[in-house]
Amino acid sequence: MSDDNLDLVVIGGGTGGYVAAIRAAQLGMKVAIVEREKLGGTCLHKGCIPSKALLRSAEVLATAKVAETFGVLHSPPEFDLHRAMARKQQVVTQLYKGVQYLMKKHRITVYEGIGRIMGPSIFSPQAGAVSVEFPNGDTKILSGRFTLVATGSRPKTLPGLSIDGESVICSDDALEMTFLPKSVILVGAGAIGVEWASLYCDLGVDVTLVEFLPRILPLEDSDVSSEVARTLKKRGIRIVTGAKLLPETLNKGEGVVTISAEVGDTTLQLEAEKIFVAVGREPVTDNMGLEATEIEVHKGAIVVDEHFRTKESNIFAIGDVIGGLQLAHVAAHEGIEAVETMSGLANKPMDYTLIPRCTYSQPQVASVGLTEAEAMAAGHMVKTGKFQFRANGKALVLGEPDGFVKIVADERTDDILGVHMVGPHVTDLISEAGLALVLNATPWEVAHAVHPHPTLSETMGEAALVVDGMGIHG
Ligand code: FAD
Repeated sequence: MSDDNLDLVVIGGGTGGYVAAIRAAQLGMKVAIVEREKLGGTCLHKGCIPSKALLRSAEVLATAKVAETFGVLHSPPEFDLHRAMARKQQVVTQLYKGVQYLMKKHRITVYEGIGRIMGPSIFSPQAGAVSVEFPNGDTKILSGRFTLVATGSRPKTLPGLSIDGESVICSDDALEMTFLPKSVILVGAGAIGVEWASLYCDLGVDVTLVEFLPRILPLEDSDVSSEVARTLKKRGIRIVTGAKLLPETLNKGEGVVTISAEVGDTTLQLEAEKIFVAVGREPVTDNMGLEATEIEVHKGAIVVDEHFRTKESNIFAIGDVIGGLQLAHVAAHEGIEAVETMSGLANKPMDYTLIPRCTYSQPQVASVGLTEAEAMAAGHMVKTGKFQFRANGKALVLGEPDGFVKIVADERTDDILGVHMVGPHVTDLISEAGLALVLNATPWEVAHAVHPHPTLSETMGEAALVVDGMGIHG
């Protein structure tokens, strides 16, 4: 059976795919989504949402442990993993229902099966018809004017270090844990590694964070990496940077796993109950029928032009499957831009320097735009302003004085080039910085947008004043 009256077939119902489908429906397109697991994809079921729900539980426990400092007396708090996991699932389920409702509201047909792109055929002279294989073995062919590939990504590992879900795990496994390990070696200190290091630490797990590069959160401004490393160490997390893990030395015993790492001239022996691999994610392009098309794949990711068109003019690709910044809000925006291009709406290419990047550890990290080093490497004459949260009233009220806001600006043009934050709720505060960059604001303009008192947002206004030597409280 075939359905060939469609305008758009989306393969993959993750954040990129379902948001694109909604925008396409708003633009009057007849849309179908093919999803092999669950609408919402990685972000909703294995990523952003469940990890933040668990981080929230960890944060509540950490706050309860210091409740006495707020004058709240109680017996020592205890952590119940099963209740925390149940709450996490409740949040996910509520949002999952919301996505299902949105599909109905926008009359988007959802096919629960595996989608594969077909080459040119009787159903379509161009490559791009999609065959759907349902769990019961039935198949159906969907043919639309356009096809959007949004098949996302999956955890990757180091060569020779296979993830067995028991002693060597990834984020998918950790999100389904039924007991807390006593100790964990976290391999990879990017956003996911640092979030889990923070979460486990709050739950009383002994954490070693191992990073190949010379500093943790290596894509962030170096001041940010240093501040986060300082605070994580203060909490008892062991950090080993410049470390090359040697998978061939992996040894799995009863409840213990050992592995060696080369750090400079020395070889370090590491031991824990589990090794958690957080070295990034690889695009999902296999078993998709791409070989029947002209679509190009480079280093595992689908190659697209600046409007997300593949080498087949009617097939677009967005989100984690095209590599680059693998973030949910990036996938969603790419999806919107792709379907707007299909509809003939003129779109400027996306400017990835305006994308905020967040790490939801304790303290949180958020940034947008160029780091100080990147700005200098790009030839800017740089001026900076930094304001510490310990000089901010609201941060002290919250009992969270660690961190700062740092603004990087151009000395000649006065444009803000980048904003880098470590501290309480900075993943929410970063949006003001994002808007400042979109509007090409100067530090003076940011400082003269009055920030209410006492709020954490005052740190942004103060850092902007410091850029031009006019800081009031710092
Ligand atoms: P996905 O969400 O991966 O969706 C792809 C969908 O395609 C999946 O549902 C899959 O089942 C389906 N699919 C694949 N192949 C087929 C096929 N052949 N047929 C049918 N369906 C198919 N990002 C943030 O912005 N903020 C965060 O805080 C954040 N935290 C994260 C935490 C963790 C632990 C992880 C793992 C990721 C996190 N991310 C975060 C990244 C974010 O989850 C991804 O960037 C985002 O989900 C990408 O969306 P996508 O639509 O491209 O792909």
